Amino acid sequence: MMFPPPSTIGVLGGGQLGRMLALEARRAGHRIAIFTDEPQGCPAGQFADTEINASYDDTEALNRFLQQVDVVTAEFENIPASCLQAVEAVKPLRPSSKALFTTQHREREKNFLRDQGIACAPFRVVDDLKSLEAAVAELGRPCVIKTAAFGYDGKGQCKVTAETNLADAWKGFEGHRAVVEQWVSFVCEVSVVGARGIDGSMATHGCVENQHTHHILDVTIAPARVEPQIIAQAVELWKAVAEGLDYIGTMAVEMFVTTDGQVIVNEIAPRPHNSGHYTIDACRTNQFQQQQRAVCGLPLGDASQHTPAVMINLLGDIWPAPLIHPDWSPVLNHPRAKLHLYGKREARARRKMGHFTVLGDTIDQALNDALAIRKALGIG
Ligand code: AMP
Repeated sequence: MMFPPPSTIGVLGGGQLGRMLALEARRAGHRIAIFTDEPQGCPAGQFADTEINASYDDTEALNRFLQQVDVVTAEFENIPASCLQAVEAVKPLRPSSKALFTTQHREREKNFLRDQGIACAPFRVVDDLKSLEAAVAELGRPCVIKTAAFGYDGKGQCKVTAETNLADAWKGFEGHRAVVEQWVSFVCEVSVVGARGIDGSMATHGCVENQHTHHILDVTIAPARVEPQIIAQAVELWKAVAEGLDYIGTMAVEMFVTTDGQVIVNEIAPRPHNSGHYTIDACRTNQFQQQQRAVCGLPLGDASQHTPAVMINLLGDIWPAPLIHPDWSPVLNHPRAKLHLYGKREARARRKMGHFTVLGDTIDQALNDALAIRKALGIG
């Protein structure tokens, strides 16, 4: 079913991804209702027509939200399954609760990839020290233990090297299920962000290169500096994931380009993604506009990139104090740099507060300029 403007899009979650969706959707004439367990005035709520602040298991508040919306999407995946099912019983939820359920949990996500025959690192699921020991013996060292549920940005991960004592390593996972993955030797990390519509049509923004610092995305280089066949493999993997999940909306797939020239899936994000923020300034239709179109059942736009771009994340670490902003002049003085701040009142270490994108005639120019601005801002 189609929900053209001025339909109301309901969004589960109140962070920056919901904020950027709200900005685009309101520009196109939609109304936006946010349901979040964050306090009033959250990043997405600042641009919403309605903001409901309640726990995801508050059925009375959820019903109030559902009465106001035509279609619902999620801006982050860690929403309880009971909430997703309650939403889907009343209003169209795009992507579906099944797609969100699969991708919100590493064990289910890995099993999905294996069942679909989609390339990913060899893995085992473990739930105690004995099964961990067996998994590490089979997969070999190094490998990495990751919590099965609710992990992101490297949280809940432990690398197992030749020196690691498994009993000590397991202490951090006691009582939880975890996925053990073989260590991948990669030349770079890439991702593909794209959207799939209700008619099965797909449009990707291309393939970008991602550099992480302390497991958090730091720099995105768009397009990725890789061979065309790597880009083609990455886009094919994205399509296989989107079709396998019968996905509707914007989705990102993070991948490794291995030292032997293969592309394998690391992680699926069932929503717009940090590595797709460059699309706002560098693509004909950005990832949030595509999300709005796909979720509302409208035709997808032209996702292609018009200008080389580099995106750099702004984490709370560079704020002089929780309420005092850095001096933005290095970004503001550059004619092709764009500052995006997420309206978070308090800065904290490692908290994603914003990003900036630099456009260039070539990717090398964009990267040089972006890194110079990054340095001037004191990001080290
Ligand atoms: P994740 O939270 O799974 O995306 O992991 C965060 C980061 O840890 C990735 O972006 C990689 O840089 C690194 N990493 C995760 N899994 C592996 C692996 N199996 N082999 C090598 N590096 C990994």
